[in-house]
Parts: sequence; C-alpha cells; structure tokens
Amino acid sequence: MDDGRKILVIIMDGLGDRAVKSLGHRTPLQCANKPNLDWFAANGTSGIMDIISPGVRPGSDTSHLALLGYDPFKVYTGRGPFEAAGVGLVGKAGDVAFRCNFATVDDRMNVTDRRAGRIKAPDTTELARALDGMRIGDVTAVVKEATEHRAVLMLQGPGLSPYVSDADPHALSAVQSSEPLRPEAALTAEAVNEFVRRSYEVLKDHPVNQRRIAEGLPPANALLPRGAGVFPDIQPFQEKYGMTASGVAGVSLIRGICRVCGLEVIEATGCTGGTDTDMEAKACAALRELERKDFVLMNVKATDIDSHDSDPRRKIESIERLDAMARTIRDNVPAGTVVALAADHCTPVEKGDHSGDPVPLTIYAEDGIRDGVTSYDEVSCARGALGRIRGVDLMPILIDKADRSVKFGA
Ligand code: ZN
Ligand code: ZN
Repeated sequence: MDDGRKILVIIMDGLGDRAVKSLGHRTPLQCANKPNLDWFAANGTSGIMDIISPGVRPGSDTSHLALLGYDPFKVYTGRGPFEAAGVGLVGKAGDVAFRCNFATVDDRMNVTDRRAGRIKAPDTTELARALDGMRIGDVTAVVKEATEHRAVLMLQGPGLSPYVSDADPHALSAVQSSEPLRPEAALTAEAVNEFVRRSYEVLKDHPVNQRRIAEGLPPANALLPRGAGVFPDIQPFQEKYGMTASGVAGVSLIRGICRVCGLEVIEATGCTGGTDTDMEAKACAALRELERKDFVLMNVKATDIDSHDSDPRRKIESIERLDAMARTIRDNVPAGTVVALAADHCTPVEKGDHSGDPVPLTIYAEDGIRDGVTSYDEVSCARGALGRIRGVDLMPILIDKADRSVKFGA
C-alpha cells in the first residue's frame, strides 16, 4: 500500500520516572542533555499517555500490546505464548505455551538443581531437539531452547486449556503433578504430566547428559513447565491496519509480542559507527525497514535496566545515548514519516520497578501543530496539545496523522 505516510514508533523502555531526591527532585529526563529528543518535542505535538489506564502498572508485554492498538484486557493470555513466540514458536489460537526450566532431578523426581548447573546452548539446543515433536495422544509437544537454562514448550492439538497448575515446584522438592484448575483442563494436565514423565526417560541417558555427568556437571534430565498461557486470537496487524510492519527489538518477550501481532521481527545487525552499537544498530535497522514497510516499531531497553538497578546517573547516560540515536533518526528518516517518541511504562529509579504513572509522548509530523512544548520530559509533555491519552489511542492517532484513517460518515 503506497497511500499514506510511514510511521515510526520509538519505545524507550521504562523511560518515564518520578521526582528523584538525589537529582534535586527532578526526573532523569529533566536532568539529561538531550537536544535531539527536545527537537522532536519542539517541532511536534506532545502529551502524556496512560499505557493501559490510570494507575495500572504495565508489564512490557501488556504495554506493547496496548501501544500496537490491542486491548490487553481482551488479548493478553499470560506471558507463556509471548515468550514462546520470542524464541520463534508462534502458535495458532488455542495452542498452549509454557515457560520451562531444564532442571536436574533424582530418580524419585525430586529436583536437586532448578537450573541444571546453569546449562546453556548448545547443550540445551540438543536436549530440546530430543523432546521436540513428542506425540501424546492427539497432542504434539513442540520444544525449543531459550536463554540459558530456559526453554519453551508449546502443546498443539484439540481441546487444550491453559488452566493447569505448574509441574515446576519452584523449589528443591518433588516435581509437582500438573492439576486441572477447571474441569475442561483435565486433558491438558494429563498431557503435561505425560510430557514431564517421558522427558525424563528421553533425557536421563541422552549423550549430552552422559557427557555432563562424566565432566562432573549436573545432568539436565527434566524439563519443568510453568506459567501456561493460551495463544490469543489476535487479528494480524497488516489485516487490522492495512499496513506492512516490522519490529526491531532485542528483548525476547517484546520480539514475541511483535511476532504474535504479525510484525516481522528484524535482527539489528549490519550497522557501522555510533557510540553505542546496540542503539545505533537499532536505529539503522529501523530506518532500513522504513524503506520497505509502512510501520516500524522499535524498542530500546537500556533505560529500563538502569531503572531496575536503581541507578539514576546511568539512566541519564542512557538517555543521552538515546539522544544520539534520535539524531540518527532525525537526520535520516524518510520525508513525511510520522515519528512517535514514547515509553512503554515508567520505571522510577528509586522504586526499581514499573509504576502506573503516565509516560511522556511526542508525535512528530511535518504538518503537526507545534504546541509550544520544547522539552521531551514528563512535566513539559503534560502541557502539550495531545493532552492525556491511553495507550490504545496511540495507533488511531498515528494512523490519522499519517493520512491513513478512514472517514466516518459522509
Ligand atoms: Zn518495558
Ligand atoms: Zn522493566
């Protein structure tokens, strides 16, 4: 579709903050030197955004669903399916996904190491492959390794339900029997228990584990599912909006959200220069995608990590690196592109976790009204012409600013 302008949404993870005592009761954004983020504010239209609704503390998964225009109260079915999609397992609506640990158990199925000596790839890759495709009646188990000792399990088949308890005991104790939490989940719980039992049979004498035992390492002889979630019935992004779309993100969970919504997930590689390879690479990847797609969402994680570490100085430094990235975008974005600067939630540094505070938002379009806001921060943006919106309002506003909205009425 070549009608309408392109849209770039830049999500700076956990960017928003509260008054920080050690910063003289200012926020890291208010303290940072960020001429390029401010340029977007000065030449754009600003506001603040309640990602889900006022006072609701979003996770990065529910927030990105809202920012892509999907009501998380309707489509969020737990973290499992998005984790699975993050490592490349995208199921159909109704498939049930679990997060799993490779663990060590004794021959009475007592967990002796929840992370199997912090096993990682390529061992986990081989062990996952040994379990992948297991048939349990009408159910097929799809298994893929994730980061470190983690993996994902996806059950596919008729009549599955996510309402089952965890097999993972979350402690050094006996592997739990997965129980149905609702009557219709009996078959799923049985499948989980059968999977766990047969996994032990397959893994205990696997060559990878024989080698680990010979090397004095704990064998990864069990895969323990937890956190069941069903793949939601999500209208693909392109069908919903009539736009082709890509997502540029390093975090697996956000890559999963993008994939489940039907965005193509891009590897941020092949970029030169820049002080921060991660951010610059993402900016370059996003710019490259804008050449061939209508819509690009990019997520940059650093500010959320600094916030969870309660490090205001490092958060300011990350914001200044984001500003350098904003310069790259400002200089190279295709003419006419509508650019949104936003966060997916606030992560106040003193709290060290997400809060329900609204996030600063600036939307830049060449013909957008300039509302007199000249700084991109929590306080200045609150005075902007966009006022206070919700996360799910962002997409319709961007689509209209890109001249892609459909007229309602005559
Ligand atoms: Zn986040
Ligand atoms: Zn976070």
